[in-house]
Amino acid sequence: RTVYLNGEYLPENEAKVSIFDRAFLMADGVYEVTSVLDGKLIDFDGHAVRLARSLNELDMKNPISKEDLLEVHRELVRRNNIEEGLVYLQITRGAPNDRDFVFPDPETTEPTIVLFTQNKPGLGNDPKAKQGLKVISIEDQRWGRRDIKTVQLLYPSLGKMMAKKAGADDAWMVQDGFVTEGTSNNAYFIKGNTIVTRALSNDILHGITRAAVLRFAEEAQMKVEERNFTIEEAQTGDEAFISSASAFVMPVIEIDGVQLGDGTPGARVARLREIYLEEMRKAAV
Ligand code: PLP
Repeated sequence: RTVYLNGEYLPENEAKVSIFDRAFLMADGVYEVTSVLDGKLIDFDGHAVRLARSLNELDMKNPISKEDLLEVHRELVRRNNIEEGLVYLQITRGAPNDRDFVFPDPETTEPTIVLFTQNKPGLGNDPKAKQGLKVISIEDQRWGRRDIKTVQLLYPSLGKMMAKKAGADDAWMVQDGFVTEGTSNNAYFIKGNTIVTRALSNDILHGITRAAVLRFAEEAQMKVEERNFTIEEAQTGDEAFISSASAFVMPVIEIDGVQLGDGTPGARVARLREIYLEEMRKAAV
């Protein structure tokens, strides 16, 4: 695999970063994951805009223009022959000469920028979309700025392991009685003609896929309510789903052991997934 590190395309085993890199020592870095379908990038613009926001919120300088970033994404997709898969991008505060809580001087310490691809044949046709996911609920123990897409992913990783041990596919996190989001996705349920999902705040990641799905709700003749909801309320839903750049729209058929509807993926989520994939493939770059 060819990867990108600080301006260079390299074989993956030749790409090396310092042990003093702030992301390695302090999770001081941000990331984005953009999916590739038909060899093209899905919603690149959305990811580039959120990346700039994450960097800005952390007082980190943006080392690369949107145009150059697009070119690097495309070049990696080309070099690695990706038809379906993901492009992972990470920018860290860089590697000063020593460990220190104080930020290094941005004049002398350059950000570290890394991109690599993940080949995922069949990404657009995942059989899970026909089976649906089972989720459990867990307490949300993450920090308070979940709107910034940092590489601080230990709690989501623990959550995924808790789900796995419980025989489920993922976990929905709950704070003060209300669902925030999935470990790596936004969470929704559908009651009648209404899609319910938590409103945007510092408590959740502002999903790029979420924004698109809510835009397409009208086309699917559905209404949207952005508000708090409990696990119990979601369990009374007709259908439920998650969204993310890598899963797109994926049905949820069971929440904490309670089946939704007849326990198989429903027509409304299937329609939303279909519209999402169709529209986003058309707009891919
Ligand atoms: N919420 C969390 C915590 C995530 O990690 C992710 C994606 O990684 C999402 C939501 C979905 O965001 P997006 O649709 O931009 O991939």
